[in-house]
Amino acid sequence: MRSLEVPESRTKTVLIVDDIPSNLEVVGRHLESHGYRAVVAQGGEEGIERAELVRPNLILLDVLMPGVDGFETCRRLKARDSTRDIPVIFMSALTDTADKIMGFEVGAVDYVTKPLDGAEVLARIGTQLTLDALRQQLQQQNARLQQEIVAREQIQLALQRSNTELEQLAYVASHDMQEPLRMVASYLQLVAERYRGKLDADADEFIGFAVDGAKRMQTLINDLLAYSRVGTKARPFAPTDCAAVVATAITDLRVAINETGASITHGPLPVVMADAAQLAHLFQNLLGNAIKFRGAERPRVRIEAEPVGADWCFAVRDNGIGIAPEYFERIFVLFQRLHGRREYPGTGIGLALCKKIVERHGGRIWVESSRSAGSVFRFTIPLRGHEG
Ligand code: ADP
Repeated sequence: MRSLEVPESRTKTVLIVDDIPSNLEVVGRHLESHGYRAVVAQGGEEGIERAELVRPNLILLDVLMPGVDGFETCRRLKARDSTRDIPVIFMSALTDTADKIMGFEVGAVDYVTKPLDGAEVLARIGTQLTLDALRQQLQQQNARLQQEIVAREQIQLALQRSNTELEQLAYVASHDMQEPLRMVASYLQLVAERYRGKLDADADEFIGFAVDGAKRMQTLINDLLAYSRVGTKARPFAPTDCAAVVATAITDLRVAINETGASITHGPLPVVMADAAQLAHLFQNLLGNAIKFRGAERPRVRIEAEPVGADWCFAVRDNGIGIAPEYFERIFVLFQRLHGRREYPGTGIGLALCKKIVERHGGRIWVESSRSAGSVFRFTIPLRGHEG
């Protein structure tokens, strides 16, 4: 036999199964002279036993054997968990294509024809061992990935649960605080009206502070309630006409619009799959901010929508004070504000609420702005809707 060095063969065990002892000896010696450990078995039954016992890295299996032939031996090896994954190469004098196909059908990975060529046998063994090592590596990586996926899914589930619990807590807490707070605010107001000028000047001022504080607390609680409602009081999506939703938002903002002389216009707006009440809230917040954070000029706000890829992309553009780029992300975080309460009133919940609404609809929201040219708030809603 011709020889060929196979570098990765050092400690690999090959089981040779053949009914003719001289074949076993020749092939065994050849493999051992190239660094393999050769184990032999005379016939199919013995081959299966040895395979179980030794767990070789590869099996060279003769096809034509008395009793249990090579095909049947292979079938049985492949039926057992312990030997299923050991690659089998048939040794066969058969040249018939049907026999070769049969070999692959019962689970072999390759075959060599008799009389054997030593170099070819080594090359084919080397290739199959490399493939097997790669397959095992892949299997291990897959198993690791599967474990990671399961672990991540568990973390996500736990997160979802605690998020839902938190949302419910925020909802219940703010809901239950509304009533006592309403009492405090209305009685304070009563005191303010009835006793104005009757106590001393300090008292008038203190009562004023208290009324102001109670009012702010009411706004905060209402905003928090709206925020937690996005998850807890969500309504199913239905076809929603954005033009009608914008009209509702404008009506709700009429006081601010009249006070500032703001003009709000829009281009053609689509019908989208959405929770109409939440979409109205979204527009109301964006339009409200566009008016609140106005510059020296009369506020001009323009709403546009256009299909971009798989989404409708909306833009709410204003001519207000603008936002510096370093705050583009921060303003969407709960309670984050760039201005003091005295400059511009607010709770810092509005844009966090907008983000939550947009994300529930399967979209994203971001801002583009420069200090001098106002801001453009953009958000997407999928053209085909989202399961919500
Ligand atoms: P709030 O309006 O209650 O302060 P928001 O979450 O709505 O809270 O907004 C967060 C911050 O983002 C605001 O305090 C403001 O600094 C900035 N901002 C939002 N909208 C605009 C806008 N149209 N123009 C300029 N700044 C804005």
